[in-house]
Amino acid sequence: MSTVVKGISASPGIKIGKAYIYLGSNIIIPKYNIPEKDVEKEIERFNAALEKTKKEINSIRLQIAGYLSKDLANIFSSHLLVLEDPLIAEQARVKVKKEKRNIEWVLNDISIELINSMSSIEDEYLKEKIIDLSDIHKRLINNLLMTDTSDLSKLDKEAIIFAPDLTPSDTAIMNKKFVLAFVTDKGGRTSHTAIMARALEIPAVVGTFTGTSSVNNGDTVIVDAFHGKVIIKPSKEEIDQYQNIEKEFLLLDKHLAELTHLPSITLDDVEVTVMGNIELPEEKKIIKEHGAQGIGLFRSEFLFLDKSLPNEEKQFNEYKEVVEYFNPKPVTIRTLDIGGDKIHVYSNLYKERNPFLGSRAIRFCMQNIELFKTQIRAILRASNFGNVKIMFPMISTVDEIIAARKIVEETMNDLEKDKIPFNKNIPIGVMIEVPSAVINSDLLSRHCDFFSVGTNDLVQYTLAVDRINESIAYLYNPLDLSVLRLLKLIVNNSNKYSIPLSICGEIAGEPLYTMLLIGLGYRTFSMSPNLMHQIKRIIRSVNIKECEDLVLELMKLEKTNAIEERLTTFMYNKFPKIFA
Ligand code: PEP
Ligand code: MG
Repeated sequence: MSTVVKGISASPGIKIGKAYIYLGSNIIIPKYNIPEKDVEKEIERFNAALEKTKKEINSIRLQIAGYLSKDLANIFSSHLLVLEDPLIAEQARVKVKKEKRNIEWVLNDISIELINSMSSIEDEYLKEKIIDLSDIHKRLINNLLMTDTSDLSKLDKEAIIFAPDLTPSDTAIMNKKFVLAFVTDKGGRTSHTAIMARALEIPAVVGTFTGTSSVNNGDTVIVDAFHGKVIIKPSKEEIDQYQNIEKEFLLLDKHLAELTHLPSITLDDVEVTVMGNIELPEEKKIIKEHGAQGIGLFRSEFLFLDKSLPNEEKQFNEYKEVVEYFNPKPVTIRTLDIGGDKIHVYSNLYKERNPFLGSRAIRFCMQNIELFKTQIRAILRASNFGNVKIMFPMISTVDEIIAARKIVEETMNDLEKDKIPFNKNIPIGVMIEVPSAVINSDLLSRHCDFFSVGTNDLVQYTLAVDRINESIAYLYNPLDLSVLRLLKLIVNNSNKYSIPLSICGEIAGEPLYTMLLIGLGYRTFSMSPNLMHQIKRIIRSVNIKECEDLVLELMKLEKTNAIEERLTTFMYNKFPKIFA
């Protein structure tokens, strides 16, 4: 019998293949009972893992004492002391014998108990010890499980990746040739892992809660990333059925690809420009092949995945490569949007209680001026090679855009002094992705040349719903009337103050929302490539009046569920093939 696990569809497609469990730094504790005859074997397994772990820690300690400092090495000496504590080890052995449970399960319980009893004490020293304890615990259990801690770049055969979570860097470095699809326990539609999946055109289902613990390495799996469904150990009939659906999808996509070079206009001749979102320069080709009219959002933070910061020259070369490739079409480079769920390189330095409300994006840059100026310099230099725009993320106050512009001005002065050419009239725009920016968009319009709406964050901040938290994903809905009203207000202000407007949140790349966004007044969409053909097909099949009528009807419905139901039915009836 097959098992079905449900999640959130993050990147469309259907794939059938073998499961590969990747735990990264996460551990899933197996829990099972041990028959009486195997108890001694289980204890031997524990003793061997204990010895192995001690050896590992000792060798790290010696290395560190050799080339770093004795103080740091002492941390590892204290790890050794914990491992050598006879009470803990003995307690574990006794519990295995008595309770006939596997050693990982027992150790996990002991560790949780110890951590809980220590956490209630307000003592900094003990708090440090808790971290030590959980590190040792992880290392020991890894050795027991002989978990594969290698990264996904080493994958050497086709697989469907199952993971508790994937970081953007996991996704960026994985050997894409062999990744058929991925399934994660955590995450939502607009988590950055999901965005990377769409950018790389890898089908993905996220937020499954139990995906990883329901599958074994090597199980046959069907990933239906259209409907957020994962079928583990499918029957022969299920495999046949999905092979047919996959064939049909590929056929439709091939058919729609014929639209690539046709103009993106509605039936009544109104242009709706389709641009691309990219994360990495390598994606430029696929975006162009899909017929995009330039880059509406270059998420530059993905160049910052390495442990070391990219210097000006490296950034300049990456930007220039994309800019020259699209010239004379525009490339909108968004300055570093670090923080939230994005880049973890700095997470040790910047541990925040509330990262999405913390030092993220423009706030982080204004607190790290040298890093910010280096990026602006690289972007300005690239502007000499094509049509570049600068865009600031997460602007929430007018003061912020004024301050950020001042940094651009200062950097321009420096470049002039150094006699380095750049475009002095480079357009400077802001992401509208925080409710305050929408409400003050009339004021912001005086300080910038364009707006781009980031609905991923706008929905998160309007509804106070963490965009990556799968347990409240049901609340994360761009169709909430509050969001629709804000989207309308932005259009009104951009028309009133003649500010060019585009939309680059994920909904711009989802066919369900295309008519709605046109009806609200959006005329430039920026999106990842995978459903670009479908979107263009919709644009070419509708007229403005019917889109506006649809919006009027939807906005009268008030309830989010009712709006969603009506929109889904409407789009399904009009485009049965696309929404099948
Ligand atoms: C958005 O918030 O909609 C957006 C496009 O930016 P990001 O997803 O990178 O935060
Ligand atoms: Mg955003």
